[in-house]
Amino acid sequence: MTEKLDAIIVGMNVAGATVSKELASLGVDILVVERLSKDRIGEKTCGDGLEKHEFRRLNLPIPKGDFIIRDITKGELIAPDRKSSIVAQAEGLGINRYHFNQHLVKSAINAGVRIKDDTLALSPLLEGYGDSKRVSGIKIRDKKGEIEKIEAKMVVDCSGLFAKIRNQLPISWWVSEKVSNEDTAVCYRETRVLNYDLDELFVRAYFSEDVAPGAFYWIGCRDLRSLNIGVGVLRVPGYPNPRRQFYTELLPRHPFLKKGKITWKSGGIVPARRPLECMVANGFIAVGDAACQVNPISGGGIGPSLFAGKLAAHIIHKAIEKKNTSIEFLWDYNLKYNHQYGFIQAGGHAMRLGLFSLNDSDINKMLGAKLLSDEEILYAIEHGKLQSGFTSKLKMARKLAKYPKLLLALRKMQIHMEKARSLYLEYPETPKDFLEWRKKVRRFFSIR
Ligand SMILES: Cc1cc2nc3c(=O)[nH]c(=O)nc-3n(C[C@H](O)[C@H](O)[C@H](O)COP(=O)(O)OP(=O)(O)OC[C@H]3O[C@@H](n4cnc5c(N)ncnc54)[C@H](O)[C@@H]3O)c2cc1C
Repeated sequence: MTEKLDAIIVGMNVAGATVSKELASLGVDILVVERLSKDRIGEKTCGDGLEKHEFRRLNLPIPKGDFIIRDITKGELIAPDRKSSIVAQAEGLGINRYHFNQHLVKSAINAGVRIKDDTLALSPLLEGYGDSKRVSGIKIRDKKGEIEKIEAKMVVDCSGLFAKIRNQLPISWWVSEKVSNEDTAVCYRETRVLNYDLDELFVRAYFSEDVAPGAFYWIGCRDLRSLNIGVGVLRVPGYPNPRRQFYTELLPRHPFLKKGKITWKSGGIVPARRPLECMVANGFIAVGDAACQVNPISGGGIGPSLFAGKLAAHIIHKAIEKKNTSIEFLWDYNLKYNHQYGFIQAGGHAMRLGLFSLNDSDINKMLGAKLLSDEEILYAIEHGKLQSGFTSKLKMARKLAKYPKLLLALRKMQIHMEKARSLYLEYPETPKDFLEWRKKVRRFFSIR
């Protein structure tokens, strides 16, 4: 059976629930296809944190609801030798991720969204030739195992990092950019409950090449007895499995966790790079992890997905109204996303490359000697740049000549972050200038 719709959305986690709710509220005829059953959406490996600064920057209301577990007022970054740390006055929320996602799903359904759950999107449908070739729908397999083609004016890929539809579009399309494994981190996480109360609530991120090469591991309190513990490892060939790292490296370093009762364990992969260079094609938009819309340093992707979901919905609504779903018409999505948040991700990508090229001994020195202060690190995560004040301190520190190599590396990182941000702030206004821009971006990131 063939249905003709305005838009079909693949996936109903943060991105899909947001796009679909907005589109339904705007009166657009849509359907969501989700591989999980409705009540399982949100069973996701997560750090369970929301950063308020992202909501403010993106003009989103700070989430409220009984999915909020607690306020987070500080975050600690711990050096590999665990002798020094930076305590940043963070502003965040600890959430129950499952309840948060269920809240988004219910709000979307209340707004009139129709969902086919337990249904797998299999592949895109294409029509037309040459430059006017477009996405015209998707093929699905429903809960009874029946294969069906669904036609729509727009297909919205919100299926997460593996971007089920995007990754099957013609290789020559700009949107088909491959995300390299090295730009993603694979994580293993458990929640554990202790049989006694801790003295205080904390969220700690630990640098350690031995435990979490290319990324970090974390221990965060959900409350005084229950903890969220995870290890992230960059997906580089030869790097270890994070689950093994959890048991052989993390637990021996923090023996108090061994007694905790495991209440959840799962793995997940998070993008750790700038956004996809182009997130649209004729009749197609990618949103959320499918477009790599995640802060590359913190791994926070909920705020950007909520923002991009709303943005995509408004552009799709206009495109349907104007009967123009061409890449040229949808380009505004690329432009607005990159001007509002993509440039911060680009700076964060450069920061990740700089930070994780340092070895443990450098990071011990950096945190021990407070070469970067707590405010500077927090600012860098939030803005994708190091504050200009860092340079003058650098000069002063240089006089000390104690860590010349390390300071040089930090200065280089600062310059790269600035450059990466400006490249994304110069995102081309129309597709005409895209290839020239992409050449510059690829040259910049390939030599980092
Ligand atoms: C270990 C880890 C910790 C994280 N911690 C945080 C954090 O603390 N704070 C934060 O803000 N972000 C965090 N993130 C990032 C955040 O989880 C993601 O950025 C966010 O979930 C992106 O939402 P999404 O809807 O784009 O994709 P996803 O959450 O990946 O959702 C994709 C949806 O599509 C469905 N789907 C997939 N394939 C198909 C298919 N073929 N057919 C139909 N449906 C399909 C899936 O079932 C799923 O429901 C973390 C990520 C990881 C891996």
